[in-house]
Amino acid sequence: MESIVVATGNPHKIKELMPLLAPLARRFHLQTDFFCDEAVEDGETYLENALKKARFASAKTGLPAIADDSGLSVDALLGAPGIYSARYADVGKNRKPSEAENRQKLLADLRGLPYAQRKAHYYCAIVLVRHPKDPAPIVGYGRWDGEILMEERTDYGIGYDSLFWDRRYVRSASQIDLELKNIISHRAQAAKAVVAQWLEEKAKTK
Ligand code: IMP
Repeated sequence: MESIVVATGNPHKIKELMPLLAPLARRFHLQTDFFCDEAVEDGETYLENALKKARFASAKTGLPAIADDSGLSVDALLGAPGIYSARYADVGKNRKPSEAENRQKLLADLRGLPYAQRKAHYYCAIVLVRHPKDPAPIVGYGRWDGEILMEERTDYGIGYDSLFWDRRYVRSASQIDLELKNIISHRAQAAKAVVAQWLEEKAKTK
């Protein structure tokens, strides 16, 4: 592909996604280079929201677009915060909660629960549309399993990373460097699935 728009303004996501998406196109544009408004994320699933974001960016720019929607699902909370991960803490309608406020709400909701009941999963759906009305978008999914700590391990990293413990690597997600995160994370799995399908399609149509 000559050019593609990455439909996110989140610098953390961009940092993670760019190395993974490199095989897709010669030139990458950020949607914030073209417009500032955002797609309405009123879907019920990560997939629906990612598709809305991708179509919106493609319609606005006339270019192919790729979008990610992701979140954290906690078993003890029946999958919450899920698609509402970015807006979990209730801070009123006038502003979006900070990531720290969302983490505090999660810790409060799980207070008193032992580790056996703190299982959680990051999910990600990534969608690529070749044009705004693409009837056959390329879709990739990823899931990363962990558990929610009783307190934060470091206060940097994105979103819920300082609370998300990976038993295999004996570290919180915020203590995992970008190179490893881009091998094991939900976002990495979803991005790799999209890239693989795109390359397969390209090989077939040669
Ligand atoms: P989105 O921008 O609608 O996809 O919102 C995703 C939200 O889920 C973010 O604001 C974070 O709170 C959370 N999230 C998704 N992926 C990650 C991750 O890799 N680390 C930490 N938090 C994440």
